[in-house]
Amino acid sequence: MKRTLTVCPYCGTGCMFYLVSDSGRLIGVEPSTTHPVSRGGLCVKGWNAFGFVHHPDRLTTPLIRRDGKLHPASWDEALGLVAERLREIQERHGADSLMFASSAKATNEENYLLMKLARGVFGTNNIDHCARLCHSSTVTGLAETFGSGAMTNSIDCFDNTDLILIIGSNTTEQHPLIGSRILKAARRGTKLIVADNRLIRLARHADLHLRHNNGSDVALLNAMMQVIIAEGLEDREFIAARCENFEAFAASIADWTPERAAPLTGLQPGEIVAAARLFAGAKRAMIVYSMGITQHSHGVDNVRCCAALAMLTGNVGRPGTGVNPLRGQNNVQGGCDMGALPDVFSGYQKVSDPMVREKFTRAWGVDALPSTPGLPLTRAMDAAAEGKLHGMFFMGENPILSDPDQGHARHALKNLDFLVVQDIFLTETAALADVVLPAACYAEKEGTFTNTERRIQRVRKGVEPPGEAKADWEIICALAKQAGCDKMHYPDPSAVMDEIASVTPIYGGISYDRLDPLGLQWPCPDRDHPGTPILHIGRFNRGKGRFSPVIYRSPAELPDEEFPFVLTTGRTYFHWHTGTMTRRTHLLDREERRSFIEINPDDAARLGVRERDDVLIASRRGSVRAQARITGIVIPGVVFMPFHFTEGAANALTNNVLDPESSIPEFKVCAVQVRKA
Ligand code: SF4
Repeated sequence: MKRTLTVCPYCGTGCMFYLVSDSGRLIGVEPSTTHPVSRGGLCVKGWNAFGFVHHPDRLTTPLIRRDGKLHPASWDEALGLVAERLREIQERHGADSLMFASSAKATNEENYLLMKLARGVFGTNNIDHCARLCHSSTVTGLAETFGSGAMTNSIDCFDNTDLILIIGSNTTEQHPLIGSRILKAARRGTKLIVADNRLIRLARHADLHLRHNNGSDVALLNAMMQVIIAEGLEDREFIAARCENFEAFAASIADWTPERAAPLTGLQPGEIVAAARLFAGAKRAMIVYSMGITQHSHGVDNVRCCAALAMLTGNVGRPGTGVNPLRGQNNVQGGCDMGALPDVFSGYQKVSDPMVREKFTRAWGVDALPSTPGLPLTRAMDAAAEGKLHGMFFMGENPILSDPDQGHARHALKNLDFLVVQDIFLTETAALADVVLPAACYAEKEGTFTNTERRIQRVRKGVEPPGEAKADWEIICALAKQAGCDKMHYPDPSAVMDEIASVTPIYGGISYDRLDPLGLQWPCPDRDHPGTPILHIGRFNRGKGRFSPVIYRSPAELPDEEFPFVLTTGRTYFHWHTGTMTRRTHLLDREERRSFIEINPDDAARLGVRERDDVLIASRRGSVRAQARITGIVIPGVVFMPFHFTEGAANALTNNVLDPESSIPEFKVCAVQVRKA
C-alpha cells in the first residue's frame, strides 16, 4: 500500500489528505492529522475524493470530431489539428478572436502555463478563469478598497474572535471544515450574525439571523453602517490613521436609516439596529462571505460594503478580524494569482503596464505581448453568440452547466468555428467540442493549489492517469510546441514554479522544497520570508483603505405576476459544481440523485404541491423539471435550486445579466414560475 499526501480537489478550504493506493489503484483517503486546516478531519466529499478517479467514463484518448461524431485520435493528430485551427483563426480574424478559459481544478503551474500560452504563443489577453463566475466581484471590490483581492485573514482566526458575520455563505455545506470551526467557536462564546434568508445550519446557532430579501445586501449593510456612525460606534482612530474618503462615504449613507432599508430588505428596523450594535460592539469581528455576496449584478458593490463595514469598525489587519471571502473551489485563488485573468499577469501585474510587459517579454523570450485587457469569460460567451469570437479552448470547465442561461451558452459554443475542451470526462461541454483532450485528474499529477487563505500547498501524484491521458501542464506545453513555440519545456512542475517565482513578487519565495509540510501563505516575496497569515497589518496594500460610496441597485429581474417567485441557486453538501466528479462517486450520488427545489410550505400548499412531487420551474429563458422539497429553509416567495444536475439544470433558468465592473452573472436572483408537473 502507498500513501501520498495531497490536497482535496473540492472546496477552497484546502484540506490535505493521503491518497491510499494499492497496486496502482486508489482505495481510499486518510486525513492529514498535522495539517492546520484539516486537523485530522474531512467532510464527506473529502473522504470520497478517490471515488471518481478510476470511473469507466474517464477519457483515455484524444477525440476528434469527424462527420459530426467524436472519434479516437493520436496525441500528434489532435494537438496538430488544434494548433493548426487556432493559428488559422488567429491569421484570419486576429488573435483576439480566440479565447482561453482556465480552471480552478487545474494547478497553479497549469494556470500559469495556459496564461503563457494565450499571451506568449497566441498573442491574446483573452484568457480568463472560472473565478469569473464566483469571485470576480471580490477581486475587483477588495482590490479597490484594500489593494488586494484576497481573504485578509487565516482560517485559524475563526478560533479566536469575538464575532463572526456570515453573509451569503452556507459555510457548513460549502466549506464544511471551516463551518465546523465556526460552530465550535460559537459554542465557546463567539457571537454569530447570519445574514441569509435561507435558514442555513449556522443560522440555527446564530445570536441574530437576518432573513433579508435576496439582493438587498447593499441596503442592509448601508443601514448597519448608518446606525454605527449615527450612534458614534465607528473606530475614529483607525479611520483617521488608515483610511481615505471617509467624509464623502459617511455623507453618502447618512439617509440610509433602518426605516429606509426596512421595506427593501424585508427586515424590521430593530433587527438592523441590533446587528449594527452587535457588530460594532465586538473587539474583534470577522466578516465571512461567499457567492451570496458576489453573484449579483451589483456584486462589486456588495463587496465594497463588506469592506467598508470592516474598516468603519477597525476590523482589518488584526488577528480575529478581516474580510474573508471563502473561495468556492480548491484553486480559485491560485488561478487568479497566476494571471489567468484578462487584465493581469501572475501576481496581479497589469498587462497595461509597459514595465510589467517588458519583464514578461524578457522572461518568456518573446518579441512582444498584448497590452489591451482581454475579454472576461462571460463577455466572451456573448461575443461568441454574436459571431465575434471564433475559437475557444476550455481547460477543465463545463459552461453548458455552469454558465447562466444555458440556451445562450449552448448557442454561443455552437456558433464557434472551433471548440477545444480539455477535461477528465466527456462533459456536456466536451460533447460539443471539435477536439477533446483527455486530462489527468488531481490524483494523477504534481503541482500546487492555493487555498482560500492564500496557502500554497503541494499536489502529488498518487496513481498513473488512465490510458493516454496527460497532466494539463504537459498538454499545454505539447500544444505550444505544435504551435511553433520552442520556449515552453519544463522537466517537471517544480521548474514551472521556479519560473513563476522569478516573475511574480507575491510568490517570489515559493519553491517546492519550502512547501512541506504546511505550505506557505502569500505574499512570500523571498526565500527567507515565512509567509503572511494576515494581510494589511499596519498598512493596507494600496496605502490607505478607501471608502467608496455605493448606490443601491435592485436585482435586474424581480418577480412579477407572470413569474412570481425569486429563484436563487447554489450547491448542496454532497455535490460539487456541475457534478462531473461527485455524480460519478457512488456514495455521493446515492445521497442526492436528482434535481430539486426547496419551496416554502405556504407556497406549496397554495400550488397544491406535495412533498417529492415533480414540479415545472420556468423563467423567461427556459423551463426544467425537478422534485419539490417543502421546507421552511426558504421564505415564502423564494425557491432554491442547486445547479449540479444536467437533468433539471438550474442554469437553464438563470439570468445572463452581468455586474458592469466584474462581469459576474446574477446567479442569485431571477424570476420564475412554479407549477405541479
Ligand atoms: Fe475537501 Fe473542502 Fe471538505 Fe476539506 S472541507 S475535505 S477541502 S471539500
